[in-house]
Amino acid sequence: MDLELILSLVRSRAEELGALSDAVWAHPETAFRESFACAALGGHMAARGFSVETGVGGLDTAFRASWGEGSPAVGFLAEYDALPGLSQEAGADERREREPGGPGHGCGHHLLGAGAAGAAVALKEYLQRTGGTGTVVLFGCPAEESGAGKEILGRAGVFDGLDLCFAWHPDTVNCAVGTASLANIILRAGFRGVASHAAAAPERGRSALDACELMNVGANYLREHIPDAVRLHYAYTNSGGASPNVVPEAAELLYYVRAPKIAQARDVAERLHRVAQGAALMTDTALTWTVESEMLDYLPCHTLNRVLDGVLRRLDPPFRPSEPYADSGPCRSISTDVGNVSWLVPTGQLFTACFTPGTHFHTWQMTAQGCSREAKEGMLAAAAAMACAGAAAVEDQDLICRAREEWSAARAGSL
Ligand SMILES: [Zn+2]
Repeated sequence: MDLELILSLVRSRAEELGALSDAVWAHPETAFRESFACAALGGHMAARGFSVETGVGGLDTAFRASWGEGSPAVGFLAEYDALPGLSQEAGADERREREPGGPGHGCGHHLLGAGAAGAAVALKEYLQRTGGTGTVVLFGCPAEESGAGKEILGRAGVFDGLDLCFAWHPDTVNCAVGTASLANIILRAGFRGVASHAAAAPERGRSALDACELMNVGANYLREHIPDAVRLHYAYTNSGGASPNVVPEAAELLYYVRAPKIAQARDVAERLHRVAQGAALMTDTALTWTVESEMLDYLPCHTLNRVLDGVLRRLDPPFRPSEPYADSGPCRSISTDVGNVSWLVPTGQLFTACFTPGTHFHTWQMTAQGCSREAKEGMLAAAAAMACAGAAAVEDQDLICRAREEWSAARAGSL
């Protein structure tokens, strides 16, 4: 694999990738509403010789851009959703919203999408220059922050036919991601009771708010009897109204159940369901239980990650990893729907330094740094590393075989 050629191909597109990233940053759109970003990235790929299909998997803001034919088929994952409430001026070191209360790119997904596009275009051009064959696919994946877009795309078969896949995320460090992320099941518990006057006729009322409160009490007792690493969080999405003198007819909770393995999360989710049924029984209310989404734990593919790590180590500072590649260690305390893809196809993943050390994810400080020169350099480093790893796989069938063998064993061992 000719590293210098790929670096020069990525460099030659530095300006347009920076502009693409900036444009998405300036049009922040939250989950499933990313029509600007979807059109911008899809248009970018179409103009560079990819055939682009939008609306894949039944999601309006998803797309599949492919070039080439036959195997191997190498995929890259693009995300582009923003977060509510994180609007912020670029470069400002104090809180200054661009649009009061508006969304903002507080997780760097504008860089993520443009960087993945850069990797796919560079790999295509590399194959054209070197006479290599294969299929290069960029997946436009909506709703990473909420809604687990890749779960929906995966169920619809959008990732079928891939031999391997690459993902990256902007970060404050440089590394291939050798450790798992947490599985996360999102559950909605809606209770329906009977409204009545809270003083004049309380005996006629059945409180949906009481049911929520009793469910939370039950869940908080449940914590003692579940594995240490499981995390339960909840929020009231409907607290039953603002009038203390009305017995609340309807109330609703949103729950996250996170665990290192999806099987553990499913087990705790089932027990939580019984807690909710108990709360409904105690309050004589009706329960509506909905599993909104399941983000699976990320199965790292060390074979692919070692290739990404090797490429990063050949890049100039500051993108050389400072730590050795870690193929074990505690689960990262985050959840991502990249995990769902990693169960469907061997998936390598890397982080590159785009933000100042110490910057926290999902903050206005991260939004503020999203258009910096450093952020764009990190994006280009990620694009180059992913394109190089894709090229290495195209040129070495054995690498793909080893990746798939490792992945099959990891999947079997994780169920
Ligand atoms: Zn993110």
